[in-house]
Amino acid sequence: MARYIGPNCKLCRREGEKLFLKGDRCISGKCSFEKRSFAPGQHGKNKRFKVSEYGIQLREKQKARQIYGIFEKQFRNYFQKAERERGITGENLLKMLEQRLDNVTFRLGFAPSRKSARQLIRHRHFMVNDKIVDIPSYLVKKGDIIKVREKSKKLELIHNSMRKVKEGKQFPWLSLNKANMVGEFVDIPERSDIPVTINEKFIVELYSK
Ligand code: SF4
Repeated sequence: MARYIGPNCKLCRREGEKLFLKGDRCISGKCSFEKRSFAPGQHGKNKRFKVSEYGIQLREKQKARQIYGIFEKQFRNYFQKAERERGITGENLLKMLEQRLDNVTFRLGFAPSRKSARQLIRHRHFMVNDKIVDIPSYLVKKGDIIKVREKSKKLELIHNSMRKVKEGKQFPWLSLNKANMVGEFVDIPERSDIPVTINEKFIVELYSK
């Protein structure tokens, strides 16, 4: 499977905000966005040029892709699926992204970042409804139980990540039993509850051209 292997911090600088792609480093003094918040490249410090409407829409879509770690083709597939569903397309899209197993395990605190979560999932450390799932894009459904496998509970990466997590409901649509390393996807989230700075309307406008 294709994956982005370039520097994550450059993505934050490109989007002009912290995307929190590197776990603990993002909330430490080592975050490179704190030191260099201008865009990468030769003209990165040049803020005089005017960004077109298309440019704004494109950047919003790229930002969403970077936050959730998804390639263009798959992202467009999500959009097309969101369009076919009832409700507001942009909101459907974000709700679907939130249902991805890599996102859910990250939000539950089983991994410090979505990237780490993807790796842990591929290495078969998690179960959904008592079955091993090793597909990061697996869409979790309402009522699904996500747990760390017994033999993986002592894994340093998971263990360290869990130490910083609080028991109970960190997000309204997820609940966590920290001691047993078990989480539940209680419900599909409301858009207003999803803590991302994405303006999904721009993404809809971009793909509707
Ligand atoms: Fe972005 Fe800072 Fe995290 Fe790097 S450390 S990914 S710049 S938030």
